[in-house]
Parts: sequence; C-alpha cells; structure tokens
Amino acid sequence: MLFRDIIGQERVKQQLLTQAHTGRVAHAQMFTGIGGVGKLKLALAFAQYLACENPSETDSCGQCAQCLQMQRLEHPDLHFAFPIYKKESSSSHVWVCDDYLGDFKKIILEKGYFSQTDWNEQIGATQKQTLIYEAESDEILRKLSLKPFYDGYKTLILWLPEKMNVQCQNKLLKLIEEPPVKTHLLFVSEKQDTILPTILSRVQQISVPTLQEDNIATYLRNAMPYLSVEQSFEYAHLAHGSICEAVRIARNEQDTNEPAFLTAFYDLFANALKLKRGKEPFESINNLRKWADDWAKEGRETLKELLQYIQNQLRENYIASFAEPEINYQTNREKEKLNILQPYFKTSNILKLMNILSLAQQHIEQNGNARIVLFDMTLKITKDI
Ligand SMILES: [Zn+2]
Repeated sequence: MLFRDIIGQERVKQQLLTQAHTGRVAHAQMFTGIGGVGKLKLALAFAQYLACENPSETDSCGQCAQCLQMQRLEHPDLHFAFPIYKKESSSSHVWVCDDYLGDFKKIILEKGYFSQTDWNEQIGATQKQTLIYEAESDEILRKLSLKPFYDGYKTLILWLPEKMNVQCQNKLLKLIEEPPVKTHLLFVSEKQDTILPTILSRVQQISVPTLQEDNIATYLRNAMPYLSVEQSFEYAHLAHGSICEAVRIARNEQDTNEPAFLTAFYDLFANALKLKRGKEPFESINNLRKWADDWAKEGRETLKELLQYIQNQLRENYIASFAEPEINYQTNREKEKLNILQPYFKTSNILKLMNILSLAQQHIEQNGNARIVLFDMTLKITKDI
C-alpha cells in the first residue's frame, strides 16, 4: 500500500512520515476513527514505508522486494489479527486468525475500504458475533517471538482491538508493556472506548478524521461509474465522512427494492401509533410482535446497525421541520416515505424515544435475548410516542 493511493488524510500521512524521518516510531500505536476513512490502509502504508529499501521523502518506492511483498500482503514479517468466529466442528480445532487469513487478505486487496459488516459477510458470519479470542494472543506472542525473516522490524496489524475478549486483552497487555525487540504493533480501532484503559494508556493514538465530501464523491464515481455527478455528491453528503457508508447508501438507493431498514423504521412507528390510538389494537400488537420476531432472527451486528439507523432517522425526522437542508441527512426516499410520521417526533418525546433505542442497543450488545429486547422496545415506544 502506497500513501499516495490513500484518499485524503494528508495530515495523518505527514504525521507518520515525520515519525519515520526522525526515527521516533512508537512501538505501539492505535489508529482511531469511524469505519471507512482509511485507517487500515494507513497502517499498511506505514508498515510498508518502514520496510521499504528505497523510500522517498513522501512514499515507499513500490518496487523493492520488501514493497512487492508488502503490497501482496505476503511479507514474512507482517502479521495480522482480526475478529473471527468459531465454526461448528466436531473436532477440537482451535480457531485462530490464520484459518481466515486468505479471506482477510482478499478483502483488503479487492475492496480496500470495507466495514465490519462486509467482513462478516466475507466469512459467512452475518448471523454471528465475531471476536478475537484468547487463543489469538498466544498466536500473536508466538509469531512475534520468532526471529524476523529480514533484518528489519516485525509488524503486527491488529484490526479492531475492541473485539478482543478480556483474556486476550490482558495477555496482550504484557506484550505492549514489554515489547519484543524490533517490533511494531499497529492497532486499528473504531471504538477505542471499550478497550481496557491499561492498554489505551500504553499506545500512541493517531486520530484519523472523517473524509471530505468531494473526496468521497470522487471515490464513488470511480467505483460506480453509472452514478451521476449529482448522485455521487448526494450520497457523499449523507455518508458522514465514511466511504463504506457512502457505498452502502449508493447501493441501497440504486436498488429498486426499498431498503430493509427504512421499511423497518416505517412499520415500527406506524404500528406503534395505531396501537397507541387504539385502532385495530390486536392487529397492531401482532404486527409489532412479528416485527420483533422477524428482526430477532438477524445477526447481532445487523441488529445493532438497525437500532443505530432508527436513532439516526429519529434525529433526522425530528429536526427536518426546522433545520436547514444541508444539515439534514436523509435520502429522497427516506424523506418521501417518512414524511407522514414526522409530526409525531416532537420535543416532548424525542429524548425518551432515543433513550429507549439506545438501551435496546446496549442490551443487544450484552447478548440479551433479541426477541424479548425488541418486543419490549416496541411496547415502550408505543407508550412514549
Ligand atoms: Zn520499496
């Protein structure tokens, strides 16, 4: 990965180059920021720059043996760790990242920018929670204790350290406190507030900001040449600075089927309103129960995204009546479909509704029974809408 092939992020690139030029490369660093802004790409480009035999002031050469191996993700001193799931199997196989390494390299090389949902899809884990298990910390310790193949540094890129379970975090803490010689640890995190503070305090944090709308629009037009200039800017505006989000929105909008999350939002609140008004109460409550049952069959990652989507839409519908268009983040489809519900999101109930959603989201994250959590949520919404 070359720095010049990464969209935007000039300040972060400069920060990394300065570290390399001054010879002050912290042994443990954490790239932080939302998904889809290029954190993993920056970590890869940094690892390559540090390994390159003939780097310029601003980039790797892209041609030396080290660069070629780095670009193919086949450098023997480059190691990866990332969330996985344990496939059911009768044997006593211990699942580790190496079981999924081919998939991980493939998604980096083919997609470049990818979300946790994309990754879960890649490994057939849409219905599963993925984690970095304790066994991985043993793997990491083993790999980093090996002699480097080349003369340079060994690098571990750990994608989503927040997915390490506590045992894994505790074991890695020792590694961060007493790093093996000539080792760089590069963490790439979207949610660093859930990582043990003892780890956070020992890594140098590199904050990676959201991307500019025009950068995202350019990316969209390259990736999806059938989009018009107007569409690419519209979707870029809605994406809150994330390429993954922009791609997701563009795909949904180009699809003739209504996006499932939008239908879910409408059905949830339309039925809650009917029930509240006592109109067809049996039918409405049955619809709400069915809504909860159907969504409970989805994986937890999807549910977390759905609940986040509902909160975002609540905010957008609440402010739509008095906000300037440029701070409204709804697609035309969303505006048209939800227009009829807007008057029901008011100053008197918006915070209560947001709290109900965020509580449900927490319970889903803590592995609560999804059917019960969702049905309970629909009844609370009915009470407070
Ligand atoms: Zn090179």
